[in-house]
Amino acid sequence: MSAQILPGATLGVLGGGQLGRMFCVAARTMGYRVVVMDPDPLCGAGLIADLHIRADYDDQSALKEMAEQCDAITLEFENIPSESVRFIADKTTVYPVAESLEIAQNRDLEKQFALKAGLRPVPYSAIVQQSDLLQAARHVGFPAILKSNTLGYDGKGQFVVNNLDELTAAYNQVGKVDCVLEKKITIRCEVSAIVARNINAELASFPVSENQHRNGVLHMSIVPARVDESISQLAIESASLLADAMSYVGILAVEFFVSDDDILYFNEMAPRPHNSGHYTKDACVTSQFEQQVRMMCGLKPGDTRLLSPVVMVNMLGDLWQPDWRNIFAQNNIKLHLYGKTEARPGRKMGHFDVLAEDVEAALIVAERVFVKLSE
Ligand code: ADP
Ligand code: MG
Repeated sequence: MSAQILPGATLGVLGGGQLGRMFCVAARTMGYRVVVMDPDPLCGAGLIADLHIRADYDDQSALKEMAEQCDAITLEFENIPSESVRFIADKTTVYPVAESLEIAQNRDLEKQFALKAGLRPVPYSAIVQQSDLLQAARHVGFPAILKSNTLGYDGKGQFVVNNLDELTAAYNQVGKVDCVLEKKITIRCEVSAIVARNINAELASFPVSENQHRNGVLHMSIVPARVDESISQLAIESASLLADAMSYVGILAVEFFVSDDDILYFNEMAPRPHNSGHYTKDACVTSQFEQQVRMMCGLKPGDTRLLSPVVMVNMLGDLWQPDWRNIFAQNNIKLHLYGKTEARPGRKMGHFDVLAEDVEAALIVAERVFVKLSE
């Protein structure tokens, strides 16, 4: 057993958006001191942390200060440069490690890794140069989706293409960076599995979430997912296999597609808490953020039991003068706002969880309240 990091110690997070903020809240609740690093002076986590180091993620003197301050450090999102993670890993404990991060940062690498671990990605081809386009089109067929290998999120850097001309145009538009061309499949539903694994290989999984997207962005998560138990089981087993294959330490979220013919396809993974796991804050014994703290501190995973059926709804900045009375009029809704002052279209401003005796009842309330908030 390696040493456990206990309350009173200082924990750090690279990245200060809503995921960093919810990590800070969980860590402080558990009695840790928290330090966040983020260049944005108004970032939501900075307002909650004991210390906010305002610097870019490749700023070595800031990283050094972070490492000196912190007994353990984690990441808010996967686009932190892996060299920065390596740099601080020389000086203090960091989870997830740079090698895991590098796999999750790159769509081609993560698909290759998933294949090796026995999962099934959607048929795809890697594109590293213009001359790969024709071969990829032949292999994958149309319609297809061109996705940049790195730096994509919430549907950014993605193009649906229906023929070789459109593919070529899309490839030019992304700036001829490395890409994958994926078959566009008919999706019955999307699910995600979030697992936690510590340094002693103890593993725990949260209940599988059913995820509905709008414009490539998560809109709603429904738990328990309305899929066959065998599909939920396979999603959890697959995510656990991936975590074990990487000797992963931390929270690992894995997104899947369920096709019309009930095949579970691996989509992508995130080496961190995930938007589709926000429901755990109100509906599980342990939240994904408490679990993140437990994993980086070498503690046992907390109980992931679901205490109530739940529907989580994202609130974006598209229409942003919500009348909060619509939420507080309900006695079974929990509101979470991220402390962002500026509302921009597509920007995640907050979410709410509806808890009810079953997901059908929760969905009715969730939809009604969401429509009212958007009026
Ligand atoms: P991001 O990194 O932006 O989350 P994803 O690859 O998860 O990118 O794609 C975002 C959404 O686009 C998915 O949740 C799904 O709804 C849709 N999508 C992505 N890939 C495919 C595909 N191969 N076939 C059909 N729909 C897809
Ligand atoms: Mg995704």
